[in-house]
Amino acid sequence: MYRTNTCGELRLLNVDQEVVLSGWVQKVRKFGGMIFVDLRDRYGITQLVFNQEINAQLCEKAEKLGREWVIQAKGAVAERSNKNPHISTGDIEIIVSELTILNSSDTPPFTIENDTDGGDDLRMKYRYLDLRRTPVRSNLELRHQMAFATRNYLNELKFLEVETPVLIGSTPEGARDFIVPSRMNPGEFYALPQSPQLFKQLLMVSGFDRYFQIVKCYRDEDLRADRQPEFTQIDCEMSFIEQEDILTVFEGLTQYLFQTIKGINLPAFPRLSYAEAMKLYGTDKPDTRFGMTFVEIKDLTSGKNFGVFDNAEYVGAIRVPGCSYYTRKQLDELTDFVKRPQIGANGLIYVRCEVDGNLKSSVDKFYSSDNLQKWVERSGAQPGDLLLILSGQTEKTRKQLGELRLEMASRLGLRNKDLFNCLWVVDFPLLEYDEELRRYFAKHHPFTSPKLEDIPLLDANPGAVRANAYDLVINGVEVGGGSIRIHNSELQKKMFSMLGFSETQAQAQFGFLMNAFKYGAPPHGGIAFGLDRFVSIFAGLDSIRDCIAFPKNNSGRDMMINAPSTVSQEQLDELNLKIELPEK
Ligand code: ASP
Repeated sequence: MYRTNTCGELRLLNVDQEVVLSGWVQKVRKFGGMIFVDLRDRYGITQLVFNQEINAQLCEKAEKLGREWVIQAKGAVAERSNKNPHISTGDIEIIVSELTILNSSDTPPFTIENDTDGGDDLRMKYRYLDLRRTPVRSNLELRHQMAFATRNYLNELKFLEVETPVLIGSTPEGARDFIVPSRMNPGEFYALPQSPQLFKQLLMVSGFDRYFQIVKCYRDEDLRADRQPEFTQIDCEMSFIEQEDILTVFEGLTQYLFQTIKGINLPAFPRLSYAEAMKLYGTDKPDTRFGMTFVEIKDLTSGKNFGVFDNAEYVGAIRVPGCSYYTRKQLDELTDFVKRPQIGANGLIYVRCEVDGNLKSSVDKFYSSDNLQKWVERSGAQPGDLLLILSGQTEKTRKQLGELRLEMASRLGLRNKDLFNCLWVVDFPLLEYDEELRRYFAKHHPFTSPKLEDIPLLDANPGAVRANAYDLVINGVEVGGGSIRIHNSELQKKMFSMLGFSETQAQAQFGFLMNAFKYGAPPHGGIAFGLDRFVSIFAGLDSIRDCIAFPKNNSGRDMMINAPSTVSQEQLDELNLKIELPEK
């Protein structure tokens, strides 16, 4: 028997018991004739004691132990005279009577403790060692709990988990596909699924009624902190339902997870239309942990010879509480912030509402105190507040103001990671116009149903058609999204044609779906949650990488196994692939 107990288990109640523990040596300390070893496993750390006076031979053996050696120790549980309140086993120690070395270890490249001295690259290269650290391991434990609770909740509601294939065909809509050459079908390729979308809809045609899958999805996109080339979705689909049913079930799932895992009871989630979200926050994933919603003041600014505002389609302000003391330097910093190419504003106007009631503005030359007072009134600004104002083309300016709003919230410490604000954003536009390609794209995906009342607009004003599509947003992060689907093959055909597919193209790409719809497709809809993002919000992490066991870096590379990598000429020949690299 390798062990009778784990390293996180023993307490005062176990004193005098003979136990056997196995684990890794975290630390060896010598004090006079005593040797103390911190023994670690997944469950915790237990202190082992070796006493020179009692057993010199054993002490000699213990002295040789190095960091991360794997050992087995037998001994008696004893009360510690010097208790450690920081660990759960801190009241006891093991007086070791037998020591077995199960394996030695090279000195690890970084310390395996909560605060490590290892940099990112090193930790990724030795991820299996990094995973021994408690903070990393506990993220994965949390991930397991969330996945497990999700399965429980959905199982109770009669959802069936069905696996869908990983080798599928490439589709032109959406992100870039990862493709896989087929050896048996020269010149042909599989693609890895960006999501099981088509399969889950086909399962509804098959009558499965309530499907879910915790499933890997693959998108060949540029990477960021919240994006990995492979990521996991909680993917769901339901039949004979309306949007309301989906929102109820998945609001329920979210509340269930918060309640069972974090002990937090969340109130009903507010709903905001896409149009309102853009108007108030300049984004379809607003962080609603704090206010600072937009105030439109274009009408109050016209006709005072201030060309910038006069020529702008939109003038919008945010009221930043308690920041009237902002210095010239701080305001210049903010101006630089909004002028960065990623944000792209031309400049920033401010009004300081000073504590004594005076208004100081960067456009004093054009606007009297009375003029400024009107802006202040509309925004509800109080003495001590600061108004920050951007102007320009409506959509662009709203986005810029949205970024500025987040920046101010970060500066003011309003993005509290222990606070969770969930909301549904609903009524997304069905289509999005691409100015460059001069055609419409599906905002969600081509299977999303327009709102019935908006169908007549499809020909006359496609941009105004709203979809039965919804996103779950938590603290400014899009955690999930989905839609009610088209289940009528004629409407689906029309949708493909609006998206610029010829009938032949649509048939070639999605013929199987349109065919399936001819055999009694039920009304259906679904949603997918990004598990990685969901876990990282629960864990208060800035990057989804930290809740993935073996993540890729920003170049899509696995530093540990060194993938992607080249393959042999034989492999290429078998696949009929010729590789020509561009000259550097
Ligand atoms: N397949 C969609 C996605 O991956 C989600 C859905 O519509 O259910 O975003």
